[in-house]
Amino acid sequence: IQGSREFHPEDTIIKTPNSLIGGDNFTMMAGPCSVESSAHVRKMAAVAKAGGATVLRGGAFKPRTSPYSFQGLGEDGLKFLRQAADEFDMDVLTEVMDEDHVEMVGRYTDIFQIGARNMQNFSLLKAVGKTNIPVMLKRGMSATVDDILNAAEYIAAGGNTQIMIAERGIRTFDNKYTRNTLDVGSVPVLQKLSHYPVIVDPSHAAGHTEFVTKEALAGVAIGASGLVVEIHDDPAHAFSDGAQALKPEEYQAMADKAFAIRDLV
Ligand code: PEP
Ligand code: MN
Repeated sequence: IQGSREFHPEDTIIKTPNSLIGGDNFTMMAGPCSVESSAHVRKMAAVAKAGGATVLRGGAFKPRTSPYSFQGLGEDGLKFLRQAADEFDMDVLTEVMDEDHVEMVGRYTDIFQIGARNMQNFSLLKAVGKTNIPVMLKRGMSATVDDILNAAEYIAAGGNTQIMIAERGIRTFDNKYTRNTLDVGSVPVLQKLSHYPVIVDPSHAAGHTEFVTKEALAGVAIGASGLVVEIHDDPAHAFSDGAQALKPEEYQAMADKAFAIRDLV
């Protein structure tokens, strides 16, 4: 098993043009849920960067729960995201939903995101496994630790071992007040079993802005290699996931605390 500590005892460190991810590094990744426009993503890039992010996230292909919800700007969105990231010397992290899009999305992104809903889309995993672009694999909402490690192995088996695992909350018996349950305990378990960087996404776990910072800081305290956080300057009018977005000042305060806690762990 290429992902296992037995096979590869040292931490995998992923090097992108502007970031080192894994090992002793701590990486902040932030941006809007969806790329909404050129001007908006540029504004969010400035906010993300000010808080210490070196990776700009943003979805151009969105896996929405309803087919009638905003589906993303597609390739135009990728262009806007790339321009904004380049302007601020940041890396791009964006979701690829379809194996037929891997080549095209790969022309714009520094890191592929495989979304929770596609964690076991094995043909998509094999397709990104044939590239040399780093991959953030998000834990499926009903996936066990072994399920996600096996999913990661599908990518590694193709030759691409530049993988990071994102804990973004799972479905439990009580998700009435949160969107998902952040499985903070899975972070050290994943770090013990595999050498891949483990990133915490508090936004899709908490689902409500008021809980995002606390879950983010829990992720840092337990030793995650980074955070991926959704931000928006006008959450009420966000194209997606406004209810869980941190406003610029909330993000800045969260990031300051995250870096301070990171220095202690
Ligand atoms: C996202 O990052 O916006 C997203 C859709 O995440 P997930 O796949 O974890 O739900
Ligand atoms: Mn989202």
